[in-house]
Amino acid sequence: MRRNATELEKMRRAGRVVAEIHEETRKAIRPGVTTGDLDRVAREVLERRGAGSNFLGYHGFPAVICTSPNSMIVHGIPSDEVVLVEGDIISVDCGAIIEGYHGDAAYTAGVGEISAEARRLLEVTERSLQAGIEQLRDGNRLHEVGRAVQAVAEAAGFTVVREYVGHAIGTAMHEDPQVPNYWPGSPGPTLKTGMVFAIEPMVNAGGPETVQLDDGWSVVTADGELSAHFEHTIVVTENGPEVFTVP
Ligand code: MG
Ligand code: MG
Repeated sequence: MRRNATELEKMRRAGRVVAEIHEETRKAIRPGVTTGDLDRVAREVLERRGAGSNFLGYHGFPAVICTSPNSMIVHGIPSDEVVLVEGDIISVDCGAIIEGYHGDAAYTAGVGEISAEARRLLEVTERSLQAGIEQLRDGNRLHEVGRAVQAVAEAAGFTVVREYVGHAIGTAMHEDPQVPNYWPGSPGPTLKTGMVFAIEPMVNAGGPETVQLDDGWSVVTADGELSAHFEHTIVVTENGPEVFTVP
């Protein structure tokens, strides 16, 4: 769906709130902090900005962010029992609603000093996101995004998750079409200005296989290897991609 200028301005504002949640939660990440603490930091930002949460209550999800440490890929539930320790990596997925319009973005950060391999995973995953974003151009085909993401991740010896994907976004967080992080075998829809997508590579250090835990939410790597997740909300403009989820 193509959004008009008024809608895009609301999405820009929602994106800035999400970026502020990123900034504030990043500042809070250190050994000894719990993922429940990070959720409270995010709630304060939403409240201060008068923004709604698109995560809280989503199919019953109990928090305003997802927090997924180490081998957890996505959808981890924040908890006061989950204490971050030196050397962990933690994926934080955040969203906000302004006047009915949604923003959605994620990052993975190190807790204190992390291993060189973990640093490389974070760097490559973020770079794969940037490569995907570069494809969001008027007249291009949507699945060039996934092709670009996959090329960056696999060139580095990593794999991309298949079961969870990016999506269009607007008056709902998850709108059609989906945006795979791999080449699905067909070029997909033609991109037009005003279309907005959440691009979100999930890149695994080991194999791409996933397992969902008994809590019904947490998704982990089947082989126990690390996973990273970066996401932005982006609009296709006549001048190329514009990222909304930045300060
Ligand atoms: Mg997200
Ligand atoms: Mg998303």
